[in-house]
Amino acid sequence: MADQFDVVVAGAGHNSLVAAAYLAKAELSCLVLEARPRIGGNTATEELTLPGFLHDTCSTAHAIFMESPIWRDQELPLAAYGLEYIATNPACHVVFPDGTSITQWTDMDRTCDEIARFSRHDADAYRAMIGEWRAIAPVFGGMRYTPAGWGPSLAEQLAERPNGLSWQRRQALAAWDIIDAAFEDWHVKSLMLWFAEGTLQPADRPGTGTLAYSFAAGRQRNGWALPNSLSRK
Ligand SMILES: Cc1cc2nc3c(=O)[nH]c(=O)nc-3n(C[C@H](O)[C@H](O)[C@H](O)COP(=O)(O)OP(=O)(O)OC[C@H]3O[C@@H](n4cnc5c(N)ncnc54)[C@H](O)[C@@H]3O)c2cc1C
Repeated sequence: MADQFDVVVAGAGHNSLVAAAYLAKAELSCLVLEARPRIGGNTATEELTLPGFLHDTCSTAHAIFMESPIWRDQELPLAAYGLEYIATNPACHVVFPDGTSITQWTDMDRTCDEIARFSRHDADAYRAMIGEWRAIAPVFGGMRYTPAGWGPSLAEQLAERPNGLSWQRRQALAAWDIIDAAFEDWHVKSLMLWFAEGTLQPADRPGTGTLAYSFAAGRQRNGWALPNSLSRK
């Protein structure tokens, strides 16, 4: 092993590994140092309970990652190294205290049929919200992968869109405010609230507005997006 490196990376969690891979792609030599006996950080599969039972340590679903250029454009050729994603269908299933439930399928019509059992209005609202998010998602997604100062700000990009001001307002609101206004049935509101809190941010906090859309839309498209690398040798 070389004794000199261009970059030393502390920790071999998912973010460090991605950073080190890009640095290596830029032909910088990297040394990644991990304190634990295995790499991956919290994005790992481990025997946490009984022998033979594999669990995700802290990351079950990679729907957000699937929308990144790392995976979507294979900027890092992870598929060639054996990573694949299982788009679970149904995407998810939520049960309620009154014994009813709603299933989200990757087929939009089927999901809307589920929601329409509670409210036709809410089924239409769900379809409209996912559609609106799909149209604007590239702007928000692009910002996530653009270092600060390397391109126009989010506000500048939204201002160029016909409905950009609406999205600036939605972004500033709390996710709950959007959900509460858009849906009428409490089962549907609960489902959407559960989605909105999927990144562990309180949905009643101003500034979480896009979470009323993004998490549900990711599951709608990609299912639960389970990583699988066990089937390849
Ligand atoms: C309960 C829970 C559920 C989650 N579910 C999901 C999900 O479904 N989907 C999703 O996308 N994300 C999920 N996440 C988030 C995801 O787990 C994290 O975003 C991801 O693990 C962060 O990766 P990281 O590389 O930044 O840090 P980590 O995964 O924490 O990795 C850090 C690594 O650095 C090492 N390290 C730290 N300090 C040092 C040091 N000084 N020297 C050497 N090594 C060091 C650690 O041992 C560790 O291996 C979840 C998180 C939690 C807590």
